[in-house]
Amino acid sequence: MPAEFPDFRLGTELATSFTATLTERSGDPVERVPTPQRLLDWLALHDLAANSCSAAQLDRARELREAIHAAATAAATGGPLPAPALQVINDSSAQGRAAAVLTTGGERRWQLGSSSVEDALSVIAADAVEIIAGERAGRLALCASPTCRAAFFDTSQSRSRKWCDMNTCGNRQKKARFNANRRKSTRTTK
Ligand SMILES: [Zn+2]
Repeated sequence: MPAEFPDFRLGTELATSFTATLTERSGDPVERVPTPQRLLDWLALHDLAANSCSAAQLDRARELREAIHAAATAAATGGPLPAPALQVINDSSAQGRAAAVLTTGGERRWQLGSSSVEDALSVIAADAVEIIAGERAGRLALCASPTCRAAFFDTSQSRSRKWCDMNTCGNRQKKARFNANRRKSTRTTK
């Protein structure tokens, strides 16, 4: 039953939303696409519906996910981009068949060539290339939460966002700070 699986963290950028299917990488990692069906669910939510997914394709998707995470982390910290990660991203980008098409509402949609997981992954890989290459307005940054450290894409005006997600990491940190302050103030009033 779907309710038993961890929910998705939906961000605004395709590539970093995809890397957020594994959260708390630096703490107790939470796998949000634990089964092939969950990957299909995630893809469908992002207008990348694929027909089927095998265990091998799920592995391939996770491999791409971690490659994007590694490359985005390097880009966020100004380090050299890791060659093995680039290989995975570039291979994925080259392997799928997907075309950008326009809707009557003037929006871009991706049309998958064969509705395969590979097609969907190629779109995600291409999105990662765009973000990491700096082709889109925004800044790659790392989440300030020590147990998270997710690479996210900051499109805020000031480019000073600290958390990958305000509702989770941001909130938790705010609560921790609030509790620490309260402890401090009860100590000083004694
Ligand atoms: Zn975070």
